[in-house]
Amino acid sequence: MQHFLSDNHVFKLISEGISEGIIVVNKEQVIVATNSAADEMFLYDKSKLIGQPLETVIPRRYHQGHGTHVNNFVAKSKKRQMGKGRDLHGIRKNGEEFPVEVGLNPFKIDDETYVMALVIDITERKIKEKELSHWFRIFDESLNEIYVFNAQSFLFVDVNKEAQRNMGYSLEEFKTMTPYNIKPEIDRNQFLKLVAPLQNSEKAKLKFETTHQRKDGSIYPVEVHLQISAMGETKVFVAIILDITDRNNYTERLERKVEERTIQLTDALAKERELNELKTRFLSLVSHEFKTPLSSILTSITLLGKYTQTEQQDKRDKHVTTIRSKVKYLDAILNDFLSVERLDSGNTNYKLETFPLSKVINEVVYDANMLLKTGQKINYPEDIDDLIIEFDPKTLELALSNLVNNAIKYSPENATIDLKIKHVDTNIVINVIDEGIGIPLEEQKHIFNRYFRAENALLTQGTGIGLNIAKQHLENLGGTLEFSSEENKGSNFTILIPYHQ
Ligand code: ADP
Repeated sequence: MQHFLSDNHVFKLISEGISEGIIVVNKEQVIVATNSAADEMFLYDKSKLIGQPLETVIPRRYHQGHGTHVNNFVAKSKKRQMGKGRDLHGIRKNGEEFPVEVGLNPFKIDDETYVMALVIDITERKIKEKELSHWFRIFDESLNEIYVFNAQSFLFVDVNKEAQRNMGYSLEEFKTMTPYNIKPEIDRNQFLKLVAPLQNSEKAKLKFETTHQRKDGSIYPVEVHLQISAMGETKVFVAIILDITDRNNYTERLERKVEERTIQLTDALAKERELNELKTRFLSLVSHEFKTPLSSILTSITLLGKYTQTEQQDKRDKHVTTIRSKVKYLDAILNDFLSVERLDSGNTNYKLETFPLSKVINEVVYDANMLLKTGQKINYPEDIDDLIIEFDPKTLELALSNLVNNAIKYSPENATIDLKIKHVDTNIVINVIDEGIGIPLEEQKHIFNRYFRAENALLTQGTGIGLNIAKQHLENLGGTLEFSSEENKGSNFTILIPYHQ
């Protein structure tokens, strides 16, 4: 049955000139007219939809709801857009569904109510929309900060979520701001200069490091990747920002490590150099310090051979004493050298023993007696027989003999050397007091430095090692070594060692 509308020339004329599909239904929802755009859209031959129920072009799953919807609509008889806010679909003859936008226009002819549906296939638009939302999500959800700003006014046009979150400004706030408002190191002029190569198309892309300042005032380092782009007709800049706080920390850490290593290397180098210097000094010391005693030993031995008579025994004794004392002296120097070597290489082997203090004192004084100059004497300490101490006897002997030997060396003939020992609290205090040349005041502060020798001591043989090692050893074992001295009056060296009763 043909409907009057399909034969109506005016309808035909008008409807064929429209690109939208037109479907007219009566109140029973039977299609009474279509235009060719609708036929083509739904893939029907010309006029083949006429007489079909409207549901023919609606996917099955919408049938029920759709019926009531259109019924209500027909009842209200108002022109309106259909399905606002939800997706509408049509179905083609081949079963393919496609998104549509539908406008409904009710009208009356001869008291019959009809609805004219204007149908637009929005497949293409949907694809575009989807693409757009896809790119928008990538932009908005990027964990790098992305800023888009106008290439003329520099005002921000869009700023993604991460930028808003990290910087603390809302999009509305950003839209009143420019990049140089968030870059504390860069003012407007500098910014203009910076982006000029992009604006003049000299460069396609810019990369630079600077800082960004958050709304709360805090500042963090960033790497900016900048390029020019377009939003419709408007030229814009797109900036991708990397927060390089971590990278900077990494660089800082690296720099610190390099610094540390450099210091260690410099130290090692200095030690190496010092060691070399030590060797050189040692060799020259040995050759110098050993030469004199050795030649006097040689002399004494030569002379010894000449005293063949029995009554020349006292002459022989004198030379034997000389030899013995020179050998002792050499032995002491060698001990010092060995000590230096051990201290420097960390090979010190201390052996704590419990022994009477007098034992070490006796040995030191006995050996020292052989070095005494004419008229010199050592005052032996009083009341030490009961003192039993726990210490390394070798170290104590080394320290004490160094002090006593120095007292002898740096005192004139006939001088007295006092050895005093007392027990104070939890310490044993040993004093070696002489009436010798003393130590010049301005040189006193260097006296414990290795190889240091005071000006007034240079005519006397010596190495400048003894005091240095004595102090180090004593301190290693919880003791101390100090002195007081006055030039041309004498010196008083004090050893202090811990004493547990
Ligand atoms: P050495 O006696 O072999 O030079 P020491 O390390 O024992 O080395 O002493 C370092 C310096 O301290 C001496 O060269 C000397 O200048 C000074 N000194 C040490 N003891 C005395 C002392 N009893 N009287 C005067 N000067 C002294």
